[in-house]
Amino acid sequence: MAAREHYLIVGGSAAGVAAAFALRRSGFDGRVTVVEAGAEPPYERPPLSKGLGAGGAVPLRPIAPAEDYRTAEVDLRLRNRVDRLDPARRTVRLRDGSTLRADRVLLATGASARRLTVPGGGLNGVMTLRDADDARRLAAAIGTGGPVVVVGGGFIGMEVAAAARAAGCDVTVVEASALPLAGALGRPLAELVTALHREHGVHVRTGASAEAFHGSGTVDEVLLSSGARLPAAAVVTGVGVVPNDTLATGAGVRCQGGIVVDLQGRTSHPWIWAAGDVTVQPHPHLARAGRIEHWDNALRQGDVVGAAMAGGLRAHDGLPYFWSEQYGLTLQVFGRPRTGDELLLRPGAGPRRFLALWRRGGAVVAAAGLDTVRDLAAARKLIETRAMVSAGKLLDPEADLRLLARS
Ligand SMILES: Cc1cc2nc3c(=O)[nH]c(=O)nc-3n(C[C@H](O)[C@H](O)[C@H](O)COP(=O)(O)OP(=O)(O)OC[C@H]3O[C@@H](n4cnc5c(N)ncnc54)[C@H](O)[C@@H]3O)c2cc1C
Repeated sequence: MAAREHYLIVGGSAAGVAAAFALRRSGFDGRVTVVEAGAEPPYERPPLSKGLGAGGAVPLRPIAPAEDYRTAEVDLRLRNRVDRLDPARRTVRLRDGSTLRADRVLLATGASARRLTVPGGGLNGVMTLRDADDARRLAAAIGTGGPVVVVGGGFIGMEVAAAARAAGCDVTVVEASALPLAGALGRPLAELVTALHREHGVHVRTGASAEAFHGSGTVDEVLLSSGARLPAAAVVTGVGVVPNDTLATGAGVRCQGGIVVDLQGRTSHPWIWAAGDVTVQPHPHLARAGRIEHWDNALRQGDVVGAAMAGGLRAHDGLPYFWSEQYGLTLQVFGRPRTGDELLLRPGAGPRRFLALWRRGGAVVAAAGLDTVRDLAAARKLIETRAMVSAGKLLDPEADLRLLARS
């Protein structure tokens, strides 16, 4: 009797787990192994930066109940790492010394927090936030009352700032550019979100960068490029991520700031597939192939790639979506605005509530909103149908987006 085929997935998070279950749903009846370096059964990362103030505890929300892995016969191997791929032999070497043969390999290795290489970066109390251990350390630090300095005003930095502020800490955000979140949201929306933080008492210092962290053993001060010194009991650096693509580069797979894949997750090597934050993906909503660092994308791409590995033909082309939560308000973005798109901010916008739509060639292509979940659902329909709606209509305070979407 022929041996059962074996597909091996490296990385047990959104993309890897979605792919494992998709393999089964698509009828793959060989063996499925997921190797995950972390100690915890796969859990959702987005809550890690959102519930930090709540008494120092970090409850982990599982991606799937334990019995689902058993039912689907997914062999989940935690606390182990894949150290090397050998495409010629079709083998994978694990940190525990074992070697596994695999008929196909999926790299769902995600990304790691980028480290700031400034003097004092190794002091206790200087942290990044990517996994459950990081979140526990950060929750404990926030619990001691601060002051907290957040270096980098991206989504994770701003969520940490909100959580630390909600826990009563004095918080300063240090952002090198002119405005936090401007790259992702565009200036008008970034100004509103920054105003929301200022309303909650966060000090936002723009055009500033951290030059060094001072302290003996533990950080107690951040030195800025301007010469200013900020007292700090904890420092969180949120300065982006780097893709975990060394297994791929070691195996000779084409990488360009991430693993280059097609719409179904194929890499330049037929044995190796990839999904999630680690990939540079073509996408109809992107101007050019790029990395999409969002939970929903990792789940959906993992799902498509798992199905493709099992012989399916679907492509990963769904509408990009991400959300953030700050001060109990939900910010959601559908689609990918590009430079040159026309941004229309609906009347009545303020730091606690806004809705914006972007048009390209007359069609609605993206939307972002704070605390406007129902209107955004309508905006999403307009984007998905590439509805041609005039700027005047979208800016009309009397125009009901839900009616527009239905028509
Ligand atoms: C604090 C935080 C908050 C976030 N909030 C949001 C949000 O609100 N909305 C949103 O859309 N997105 C959010 N994100 C982003 C989202 O979590 C990521 O896009 C998503 O986790 C990517 O999933 P992934 O499976 O591609 O990779 P990852 O989640 O990075 O997982 C990769 C896994 O691979 C494992 N691994 C790596 N190398 C190896 C190896 N050699 N051997 C074995 N295992 C390995 C790692 O341990 C890791 O578990 C947030 C991220 C963080 C860190």
